[in-house]
Amino acid sequence: MSWFPIAADSDFSLINLPFGVFSTANSAPRCGVALGDHVIDLQALHMAGLLKDLSFDASIFGESTLNSFMALDRPAWRAVRSLLTELFSKESNNVSIRDNESLRSRVLIPMSQTTMHMPAKVGDYTDFYSSREHATNVGIMFRGVDNALQPNWLHLPVGYHGRSSSVVLSGTDVVRPYGQLQVDKTDPKKGSVHDTCKLLDIELEMGTFVGGSTNPLGRALTMEEAEDRIFGVVLLNDWSARDIQAWEYVPLGPFTAKNFATSISPWVVTIDALEAFRTSSSAVVQENPAPLPYLVDPNYGNSSYDVNLEIAIKPEGSDKAYPISTTNWKCMYWNMKQQLVHHSVTGCNMQPGDLLGSGTISGSTETSLGSMLELSWKGSREVKLQGSDLTRKFLKDGDEVIMSGFATRDGQRVGFGTVTGKILPAGSYNARSLEATCSETNTLKLQLKALQEENAQLKRELEVKK
Ligand code: CA
Repeated sequence: MSWFPIAADSDFSLINLPFGVFSTANSAPRCGVALGDHVIDLQALHMAGLLKDLSFDASIFGESTLNSFMALDRPAWRAVRSLLTELFSKESNNVSIRDNESLRSRVLIPMSQTTMHMPAKVGDYTDFYSSREHATNVGIMFRGVDNALQPNWLHLPVGYHGRSSSVVLSGTDVVRPYGQLQVDKTDPKKGSVHDTCKLLDIELEMGTFVGGSTNPLGRALTMEEAEDRIFGVVLLNDWSARDIQAWEYVPLGPFTAKNFATSISPWVVTIDALEAFRTSSSAVVQENPAPLPYLVDPNYGNSSYDVNLEIAIKPEGSDKAYPISTTNWKCMYWNMKQQLVHHSVTGCNMQPGDLLGSGTISGSTETSLGSMLELSWKGSREVKLQGSDLTRKFLKDGDEVIMSGFATRDGQRVGFGTVTGKILPAGSYNARSLEATCSETNTLKLQLKALQEENAQLKRELEVKK
């Protein structure tokens, strides 16, 4: 329990403490931690001398990404968590913030006064395909029940290398893409046209941020090392243009159908915060076939996480969002550690700030599917916007997609917030990306101003000494 008021249904309880990057109207982006409906300003804590016991230089929290912090190790990440727990828990004897109003107002900033930014500069983005329920559904749709899973699927976590430049923060609009579409669905020999995507879709996923020291090129990660190389997790929406994908994916997999936008939620929840919510995957065991020894997770039965997930659509002009699916992160066959280990099996160097998408998370029922492709069964049935008379097969212009997730057990709650994105008509200009550029300019201006002030102060001090 915290002395600081936190609503019982808040995603950001004292046991969560997720990391993110924020700014205010008058200050540059820097690192913070969500607590209730406030942001703990880690740079302000550092300036106040409250982070001096950490084993690293806490001035890295003044940086505009978490990459430097992610590049430390798990003991460092844990030390910050335990220090914050100490500062904000009711039982603590450390009352330095609680009893100092001026400090409190510098350290705790209402979320309503903040703007969130990308938590990290994403080095490389990889997307997996690790929910057996999802892979089976897609397989049945395209290859029939008997060949649903490709022969390799149970032997390794299938994935592809994605595009990091278009990984965007929640709230960024998504412009309906143009691309190549096959003219005749039954006859690829008839060629293609350049047109707007008609089958615009979502994929509900979790995104894993890699942390820790980069393994040398040529040296694969082991299962024992894997967990310590995971910094934390966000919600991820892998926007997908199904009609573009259908024509282009042969034989090397998705390309432009997936590279126009991938959205992530702003707060990175550490796996230490999720410790109380460990569970078995929906597969329970991996024995038919057993993975090769390097991919065996001895703790497989307890390496998934019980996180409730929901997808909702808010149509243009509506003030309400209507759920279309609810599922759970535990519906995975290959877990994060196995994805990470397999990614590095050939000696690939995994760097802090790399992002790994879990793959679409689908459950086993018609209302627990993680994509509209599955919910509408390839467009053959209407998807109900629950609580309304509306239906969809794929996304319409003006639709805002809202994905949310939280874990709860014994009255404790750890949430991820939301990842959202609104579909703009094809040919629209993405104003938000321009805003982001402007905000970078503003950030530089603010940094310049701060340096000029510091310079003036130093000059004054020098004058006094003279
Ligand atoms: Ca995906």
